[in-house]
Amino acid sequence: MAKVFNLADWARPEMLALKPYTSARDTFTAAEGEWTFLDANENPNATEVNRYPDPNQTELKKVIANLRGCDQDQLLIGNGSDEVLDLIIRAFCTPYKDDMLIMPPTYGMYAVLADINSIGMIKVPLDATFQLRPKEILAAVTPNTKAIFFCSPNNPSGNAFNSDDIQILLEEFDGIVVIDEAYIDFTDFSSWSIKLSNYPNLIVTQTLSKAFGLAGLRLGIAIASSEIIALLKRIKPPYNINSLSQENAMEVLRDTKTVNTQIAESISERKRLAQELNTFSWVVKTYPSDANFLLVKVDDAAKRYTELLDQHIVTRDRSSQENCENCIRFSVGTPQENDKLIAACKSLSE
Ligand SMILES: *Cc1c(COP(=O)(O)O)cnc(C)c1O
Repeated sequence: MAKVFNLADWARPEMLALKPYTSARDTFTAAEGEWTFLDANENPNATEVNRYPDPNQTELKKVIANLRGCDQDQLLIGNGSDEVLDLIIRAFCTPYKDDMLIMPPTYGMYAVLADINSIGMIKVPLDATFQLRPKEILAAVTPNTKAIFFCSPNNPSGNAFNSDDIQILLEEFDGIVVIDEAYIDFTDFSSWSIKLSNYPNLIVTQTLSKAFGLAGLRLGIAIASSEIIALLKRIKPPYNINSLSQENAMEVLRDTKTVNTQIAESISERKRLAQELNTFSWVVKTYPSDANFLLVKVDDAAKRYTELLDQHIVTRDRSSQENCENCIRFSVGTPQENDKLIAACKSLSE
């Protein structure tokens, strides 16, 4: 049975009442035929970018909705997931009053965005195997907790969370549950977006920065009920996705064959890399990964990081994160790059 979620009980009243800016391109959308646009004070001399972009990203949404199996009105596109996550916080959390829950080690932007928006932060660390602790999480919820944020597969640990634990949170927490699926394309777990009809308090975020190879374009998405999406759309900057990004993304998304080949290669390389890394005496443990990176516990992370840097290989020392002491995160590269990494690792001191 679907959960009951009353948006008005959870959204910021100011955001619900907001009278959004109406842009020129919103007020009038051209139908077929020839039109003379004298409505937006643009430079009329045609270049690739002299006109404002489509504020609703209609064409791009068609392609993404088709790809992700959702309706267009269940989609919000942001300037990277970072903008999407920021919009969610601004829509639901009142500064200096509300708080949000995160489960470290997790993606660093959640805490930064909470700080920027002056939102309180409750932390309930993952367990030793980097899984959720639903009972402790629910016990930590306060009357002002408006949202729970986590990523599955998780960054930096790489694992996807147990579905049963996620389901408990979706069922027992009445506020917004944000599941950041930046790495969903690298795992066999299916997206939680297929459960949206059961959980109207769920917002799934995804990105074109990882599997789709478009980190430089800055495109993130939220998939949620049309009601939540409508609220987020009201508060987003009108022209948040530039026209070059919209066009470029459509081209890449239409060629799913290339993307799928690259994903398959990344997964097989992840397996190879883990096997190779485990042969080194200074590697303590390679954590299971459902993503395009591996978290690896080593004897001395600072030392190994520097040794690899000396060979011009840049990795990420995650030692400062909860439960990640002496852990280095390795992104999976091309087969050639991974060969380079393995060769470099072989040359390190025992
Ligand atoms: C990389 C990553 C993102 C991507 O953010 P963009 O702003 O879309 O590039 C989002 N969430 C997590 C957990 C990530 O690791």
